[in-house]
Amino acid sequence: MLNVDLHCHSNVSDGVLPPAVVAARAKAKGVDVWALTDHDEVSGIAEAREAAAAFGLKYVTGVEISITWANETVHIVGLRVDEKNENLVQGLTYTRSGRERRAHEMAEQLAIAGIPNAFERALKYVGNPDLISRTHFARYILELGRCKDISEVFANYLTEGKPGYVPHRWATLKDAVSWIRGAGGVAVIAHPGRYKFNDVAMDALLNEFKQLGGTAVEVVTGSHTVEEYERFAKVARNYGLLASRGSDFHGPNESPVDLGALPPLPSSVVPVWHDWRL
Ligand code: AMP
Ligand code: MN
Ligand code: MN
Ligand code: MN
Repeated sequence: MLNVDLHCHSNVSDGVLPPAVVAARAKAKGVDVWALTDHDEVSGIAEAREAAAAFGLKYVTGVEISITWANETVHIVGLRVDEKNENLVQGLTYTRSGRERRAHEMAEQLAIAGIPNAFERALKYVGNPDLISRTHFARYILELGRCKDISEVFANYLTEGKPGYVPHRWATLKDAVSWIRGAGGVAVIAHPGRYKFNDVAMDALLNEFKQLGGTAVEVVTGSHTVEEYERFAKVARNYGLLASRGSDFHGPNESPVDLGALPPLPSSVVPVWHDWRL
């Protein structure tokens, strides 16, 4: 059986390693089919594709788009996109454009909470000045020694109601799905188990996604529990969606799940790659 990992990050967004090093690690960890899915960015794809070819990995282009739906942030993965598609490129540029301003606001709030100069300090962890993420702030705050790990930093400083949290409006679901489909790709709802929606809202999201031409949901991901694999396998079947699998690896000492290390998809679902020529 193929080891397929269709979700991870490089330092082109909030991962730790450059795209080629992520490719090398995917190969070393037994991945056969690999997609790099940086947040709101496709500029790591050329390096990723070239490295994948050199290591004999089957490569799938990818991106993870930040959207706002019902006032919550949701992530939509696009797979098999043409990364040069103009609408997609423009859409991503627009999606990234608020990040620097947001980062300055986060730093102002963190300064009031007793963490000065966080913008400048977080920059040390930023690989792409166009893509400053909460994760880069988290790495700096962790360095200060006030929290035991990245999750605790998010819980104490960077999530809603905490001092460094700045609400942000991302792309719309409609735009993200249309950029992905317009670039020849398929849209996938990332880690659905992470959203704080009740059943009614989750149903509405899935219906709207389906109606817009969305294709799949992540079933087996680094952010799901074993119970959630079953829950979202059932969702995939009930809504006629295909299923995806991806570690959401960000870095060796940070991510709970390494590249290629997840269990296979449940046999009750149809993999998003079922009709791909691999
Ligand atoms: P941003 O797009 O700047 O809001 O940052 C979102 C990123 O922060 C996600 O892609 C994750 O990598 C990371 N993140 C969010 N919540 C957590 C958490 N509770 N623990 C660890 N990382 C998180
Ligand atoms: Mn991330
Ligand atoms: Mn995500
Ligand atoms: Mn991700």
